Amino acid sequence: MKAYRAALLRFDDHGQPLYDRDGLLVVGPDASGRRVVRASGSHGALIDRFAGVAVEDLRGHLIAPGFIDLHVHYPQTDVIGAPAAGLLPWLENYTFPHESRFADKAYARCVADFFFDELARHGVTTALTFATSHSASVDAAFEAAQARGLRFITGKVLQDRHSPDGVRDETEQSLVDTEALIRRWHGVDRLGYAITPRFAPTSTDAQLRGAGELAAKYAEVWIQSHVAENRDEVRWVAELYPQARSYLGVYGDFGLLRERAVYAHCIHLDTHDRILMRETGAAAAVSPTSNLFLGSGFFDYAAADAAGMRYGLASDVGGGTSFSPFHTMLSAYYIGREGHTKPGLSLSPGQLWWQHTAGAARALGLEGVVGNLTPGHEADFVVLNPKATPLLARKTTQADSLDELLFALIVLGDDRLVARVHTA
Ligand SMILES: [Zn+2]
Repeated sequence: MKAYRAALLRFDDHGQPLYDRDGLLVVGPDASGRRVVRASGSHGALIDRFAGVAVEDLRGHLIAPGFIDLHVHYPQTDVIGAPAAGLLPWLENYTFPHESRFADKAYARCVADFFFDELARHGVTTALTFATSHSASVDAAFEAAQARGLRFITGKVLQDRHSPDGVRDETEQSLVDTEALIRRWHGVDRLGYAITPRFAPTSTDAQLRGAGELAAKYAEVWIQSHVAENRDEVRWVAELYPQARSYLGVYGDFGLLRERAVYAHCIHLDTHDRILMRETGAAAAVSPTSNLFLGSGFFDYAAADAAGMRYGLASDVGGGTSFSPFHTMLSAYYIGREGHTKPGLSLSPGQLWWQHTAGAARALGLEGVVGNLTPGHEADFVVLNPKATPLLARKTTQADSLDELLFALIVLGDDRLVARVHTA
């Protein structure tokens, strides 16, 4: 066992932040040998119970749950910041040509290693990420994550139409490959598989049907895709699937809405769609830097809450512009404030932080496993230095409340805040 003394941030079951200015985090193995949180709370209340345990003094720092990125594309690490006129030209001119290189496993591993280094620098300890349509890209990412002991989820992209040579796959073979990858990787160490149709326009009915059958057969496996990101895309789906009630409805028709299904964006949904999300247990990966960069629209938090649907935050790199959870949380605040296309509101700092940690874990069906630092959670956490820059030091010293402290970190923070990352 080992203990860490510092300010400590956790969340209660209702998503409210719990804060100890002088806190103690005790980690150690559980009965099955996993490294988990054994105790957390105020130093004064806990220290007598753990008298024999070595305590590392990190006072002046803030310990918080490792961040969870609910939607990111590791193969697009080098596509970040590509100049393009919106989603569809961006895919055609930058993303697809780049992703075609991931048929080469050695190349994929090289990018995966860089990607995981980058996540660690930014304090991200779990990601639900797209690979590419090549099985080699999945093997490379899982091998890299396994070597680092990460809780990590990815899957082979399914895209058997409206895709150029080099990334387009074959319907039958894509489903055979998906099942082989599920058997090879799902549940190995901390790894999980996600059935990954790119989005409805790039899959045939047969491919989506096959994906839905696999999702029914392997209920513990995740599903990830994109939905209702931009208006051109929504119109295209309506032409391709005239029988479907809505874009989201396409996925429902093929059995791809259920617990552990995570859909990026969810911007142009209607009330029926949002209720369908809640009823099926599917969750939205809100991707604010990406939505602002590509001009896609604004996630409607008020409508999502009214419907009771689950959501959490995501970088969506390479459409997104940063791996930093701080940049993502700040952009989510901008998205919330926008009040011209939907009701504007002010998300609280604690709520923003929750969406990128415990809330994201709940969206993934990993509540109680990662994303929080109450006892029993796997010990993935970050050590933040609130004085990492002169302005942060000045601002956080003046903070009179937890809200003021967290908001200063969100608005001014980046990778310089992250002093250290621990993974279970
Ligand atoms: Zn995406």
